[in-house]
Amino acid sequence: MSADNSPISDAPPPYDTVIFDCDSTLSGIEGIEELAGDLSPRIEALTRRAMEGELPLEEVFGARLELIRPSRADLARVAEVYAKRALPNAAGLVALLRAAGKRVLVVSGGLALAVRPFAEGLGIAAGEVHAVEAYFDGAGEYRGFDEDSSLARAGGKPELLAALAEQGSLGAIALVGDGATDLEAACVTARFVAFGGVVRRASVFARARVHCTRADMAALVPLLLTRAEIDARSGDPAHGEILRGAARL
Ligand SMILES: [Mg+2]
Repeated sequence: MSADNSPISDAPPPYDTVIFDCDSTLSGIEGIEELAGDLSPRIEALTRRAMEGELPLEEVFGARLELIRPSRADLARVAEVYAKRALPNAAGLVALLRAAGKRVLVVSGGLALAVRPFAEGLGIAAGEVHAVEAYFDGAGEYRGFDEDSSLARAGGKPELLAALAEQGSLGAIALVGDGATDLEAACVTARFVAFGGVVRRASVFARARVHCTRADMAALVPLLLTRAEIDARSGDPAHGEILRGAARL
């Protein structure tokens, strides 16, 4: 991965689109580690080196899955753990952003069969969830993954965002994520928020201009919305919990 240390640009809100990473951002787990069982020390070491930017993602992506060979049922279970370990106010933040007219996406290097149901549970449409497809046989046993997915390799997130921007109007983008693959996409966003509410990755924090260290999505409210956008929803009881949370933090 790039050793580029040039400062990344930052523009204040408003944004048209807010994009979240999934693992260690919307949810407090790494899905792949949840699947690893007895293999977890080997898997964790590979994941950490990829997210710190020491190893290109494509070197570890297929290797981890080939070790684990998750079944369809395993991925359904991970979807449940994602939801159980969702960060506080994650659904509330999605609702607030959507009420403020933002498009909300998930762009994840996780497996779609686990990420998509979790994201839908947070109020994000299935079509707005971009993750890596895995394949199964008729008995639900693992038969590989989409090796052409840009999200399974380093440099893939900015590539995907550029392609989405060409298709439709993403407008000004804010991206929230914890990992090196998120930081890579900062070049195509108006704002990148280094999310350290679950894991604080030094290499990502060092380059990011905007940081969040709270394990609560309410802390992102002032980083993603203007004062006017927040005030316009302050009387709506549907957003009372997250706005009170944001005011307390
Ligand atoms: Mg992550």
